Amino acid sequence: MSLGERTHYAGTIGKDDLGREVILKGWVRRRRDLGSLVFVDLRDREGIVQLVFSEDRHPEVFGAAKDLRPEFVIAVKGVVENRTAKDMNPHMATGAFEVEVSELEVLAQAETPPFAVEDDALVSEDLRLQYRYLDLRRPFQNARIVARHHLAQRTRNFLSGEGFIEIETPFLTKSTPEGARDFLVPSRLRPGTFYALPQSPQLFKQLCMVAGFDRYFQLVKCFRDEDLRADRQLEFTQIDIEMSFPTEDLIMSLAERLAMELFEEAGVTAPLEVPRITYAQAMDRYGCDKPDTRFGLELATVTDIAGGTGFGVFKGAIEAGGVVRGLCVPGQSGISRKGLDGLNVVVKPYGGKGVVSLMRRDGQIVGAALKHIGEGPAGALLDAVGAKEGDLGLFVADTFDTACACLGALRLHFAKTLNLVESGRHDLLWVHRFPMFEWSPEESRWMARHHPFTMPREEHRPWLDGDPHDPASSLGKVEALAYDLVLDGNEIGGGSIRIHRGDIQKKVFGALGFSAEEAQEKFGFLLDAFRYGTPPHGGIAFGFDRLTMLLLGCDSIRDVIPFPKTTSGLCLMTGSPGRVEEKQLDELSIALREKGSQ
Ligand code: ASP
Repeated sequence: MSLGERTHYAGTIGKDDLGREVILKGWVRRRRDLGSLVFVDLRDREGIVQLVFSEDRHPEVFGAAKDLRPEFVIAVKGVVENRTAKDMNPHMATGAFEVEVSELEVLAQAETPPFAVEDDALVSEDLRLQYRYLDLRRPFQNARIVARHHLAQRTRNFLSGEGFIEIETPFLTKSTPEGARDFLVPSRLRPGTFYALPQSPQLFKQLCMVAGFDRYFQLVKCFRDEDLRADRQLEFTQIDIEMSFPTEDLIMSLAERLAMELFEEAGVTAPLEVPRITYAQAMDRYGCDKPDTRFGLELATVTDIAGGTGFGVFKGAIEAGGVVRGLCVPGQSGISRKGLDGLNVVVKPYGGKGVVSLMRRDGQIVGAALKHIGEGPAGALLDAVGAKEGDLGLFVADTFDTACACLGALRLHFAKTLNLVESGRHDLLWVHRFPMFEWSPEESRWMARHHPFTMPREEHRPWLDGDPHDPASSLGKVEALAYDLVLDGNEIGGGSIRIHRGDIQKKVFGALGFSAEEAQEKFGFLLDAFRYGTPPHGGIAFGFDRLTMLLLGCDSIRDVIPFPKTTSGLCLMTGSPGRVEEKQLDELSIALREKGSQ
């Protein structure tokens, strides 16, 4: 017996359907028996509707209805009716209606699920991920994935409308230098050789420009073998964009318009302006290259004043070439001893050795370090960070980068604990003029901050000849035509104008310490392509998962990825990564050895 094709989704039943016969298919959410009536909530992708099985009117289905259990899959035929006034449920979209069932077919039975398929079920994340299909069946979690689809479609429509062409690039490819570890795939046909999964389609999108496509985009998976954090995954999706003959302004304005479209799609009020600040300004004011500007607590540099005190902590850092920086937390002069100790814990992961605190309380300056700093200089330090009566001044003495990182972390700590972010506010801004290189003490050389294909600013190009192995070389001064888009303190996109000239590219490879042979071996195909007429080009990539997470107001990137991995890189549903059969390893000419053995 078959009831025929579905006529409606449960969640869409409305006034216009009154009196009509409908066929619905979906899951039993719950069943209530009330004497001669059985009520069943039927759930499908679009929502829930109440079914009524009446012993008097349809005795032929009444008995079977009594056997229905949660998550059974059923098909029903019935007539849409008004609920009586007392039975109406204003909290349900279909709460004024019910379907009086005349035919019922059980399409699949279900065992009792490990957790209730309900939005408010309290479930551990591990269990959710193990039974992800049940977790995704929960209406709110289902809605997140549907919302992701709409954001993706809006992106495609917008970019297609702007003349961008979606082009697929390979997954089995050569290593791309985005700064992370590659995932390698052994080649069976060429034993001992490996493909790398792309950390991004960077080189291919540039080659699409050489190929004359002019405007490229792709919603694409990228793979980076990194240690995971709350907002990272080993595989993630980028909105990847590249265009020929751009200026920085053209790319930034396109990216802003795309961001605005996505804000609108998500129903989030977009900020009116998208300011631009330089990397140097971001570090100076916020101690961070992706600042959350929704609250103040800006940083000040107080090295000169601090250097004039006899305080060993300050002196030591300054003599070692470091700085003293600080910030003011208004109204927090009453912070407890425990609260202050907690601040040292906040800065520890950033390499901070400690936080020096001074308070203006009851007309006096107080603080454990006051006796070392002295009353006068302490007042000057507090003035320099803008601390008035009732305020707390916090200072960190260290290298510039560490001091910035520590104070940046303290800003975020206070924003959270003092609830400084106005609800519903979103700040979008550009950070640009990034340094082209950063010094790696581990490798004793300069590394690319973005990637080695980023164009250095024209007026800084003479500095590219600096010594690649000297931390004080002119390479440290070179700025890149690179830009990041930051939303509420999260980097949601980043890109650059690319190097399209072989001579500049060679210089940059040289600055990164690659010999001509190494550059040829790694990126020869790109350098070769550049010999045949390369248009100036540039682009950007948005982290689609992260952006979706922020726009939907989720706490974890895993909430917006259909089948995510845990922070330790496991898929709890499939059990990957897993062992493979000896035969598969043999075919790949791979022999395993115990970790640590020779
Ligand atoms: N490929 C870069 C990244 O994934 C983005 C870009 O430069 O367009 O970060």
